[in-house]
Order: sequence, then C-alpha cells, then structure tokens
Amino acid sequence: MANKFGLSRNIPDDVKRAVRQHCGFGCAICGTTITEYEHFFPDFVDASKHDPKKIVLLCPTHHSMVTKGIIPKEKVQESWAQPAAKDLGYSKTEHPWFKGIPSLKMGGGPLVQGTPIPIQVRGTNIIEFEPPEEGSNLARISAKLQDASGNNILSIDKNEWRVLSGSWDFKCVGNRYIFLDKFNAPSLILKMNPPNWIAIELLLTSIDGIPVKVTEEKLMIGSSTFSGGLFSNCRVGFAFG
Ligand SMILES: [Zn+2]
Repeated sequence: MANKFGLSRNIPDDVKRAVRQHCGFGCAICGTTITEYEHFFPDFVDASKHDPKKIVLLCPTHHSMVTKGIIPKEKVQESWAQPAAKDLGYSKTEHPWFKGIPSLKMGGGPLVQGTPIPIQVRGTNIIEFEPPEEGSNLARISAKLQDASGNNILSIDKNEWRVLSGSWDFKCVGNRYIFLDKFNAPSLILKMNPPNWIAIELLLTSIDGIPVKVTEEKLMIGSSTFSGGLFSNCRVGFAFG
C-alpha cells in the first residue's frame, strides 16, 4: 500500500532504528515500550519519504489518541523533541528495562532464567525474548497469539505492536502491560518487575486448534496441565508436541 508519492507504508529498518534511538526506545509521550511508528508534519499521506525526524514512536494508546485527533500533532512534535523515555532516563520502573533475557515467573516452579523461548508448542514459539539492541537497556519481546480458528489476535515483533484487522487494544496499568482482544478480554498480561523478572500473569492462544493457557502457576495445553516443568538456561524452556 503506497501513498500518492508512491511511498510504501513499510518504513525501512534503518529509519525505524534511528527513530527508536531518538525516542529512547519508548513512547515519546509516556515512555511505554510497546510501540508503533507515526508520521507527523507531514502525515504519512503527504510524506514523500520516511524521514526519521518526521516519525515518532508512540504506544498503541497514544497512537490511537493522535489518530482520533484527541492529541494534536503539535503535541506529537513537542514530544518528539523531548521524548518521555529519554526524560525518564530509562528509570521508570514499570517498563521492561532488562539488560539481557529477562527472568520469568510463569507456569509454576522457580524463576525461569536465561531462556529466550519459554514455551514452544508444535514448533511455534509462543513468546520470545531477545537481549536489548545496541544503545538500549530494553529486552525485546515478541509474541504471536491466535484464536481457536487460527486468526491472529495479537502480534508483537521485537516490541513493535503490529496492528491487525479488528479492534484490539493495549493498556499500560501500573507495571502491567495488558493486551485485550476484540471482546475487550485480556489475551496477554505481562507484569514488569525490572531489573529482576517479568511475570506472565495470563497468556491465551491456540496452536492448530489446541488451546494454550499460561499463568504464573500453570501451563494448560489442550486437556493437560503442567506446573513447574520449565527449564532455565536453555534455548527452549518447555516444548510440547
Ligand atoms: Zn504512550
């Protein structure tokens, strides 16, 4: 999909990286670290190129307020000039400022440490962590969740929230990142406790029609329930199927 200048919606990786570095790897308005890219002055429809000085990093909440006109573009420009994540000096405790692969509280048992792919079901990585990119202290989170019919309900690629068709929502409440489905029910709740651990309070997905539910205490895959069966310091903490 291109605009009248033939400019593609896809922002090149090097431009995205420049935007992330400029904005301090978080929403320019609030510092939340699950983000999207927004063109300002000019808007994407009137942009002839992807200029990192004209693109801002925003969390889904603030992005939607800008799109609806609740937050004016002038405010966006101000925030670009003085991004919140930089102002906060990476110190805002509720965001996942982890230097390496974060430790996890999930599925019962002791803290899972040094495990980038905590759960894999039928070869699918349900959630994945990568160490921060250069210049950042921010662990990178990826997740892809599906409903029972195999429709994607949530997609996060290295902290970038990928907009899917349908009405999905994101909320940052205290130190919790809450991702809601179209029925306004949470599909993923991450409790951030930097620099020590992230708790997966809830994760709901389906792999090939098999329901998967993860909480801090248990893993439920189909009709099987597991607790405390995750390994630390492995690439994959728990593999099923
Ligand atoms: Zn925000």
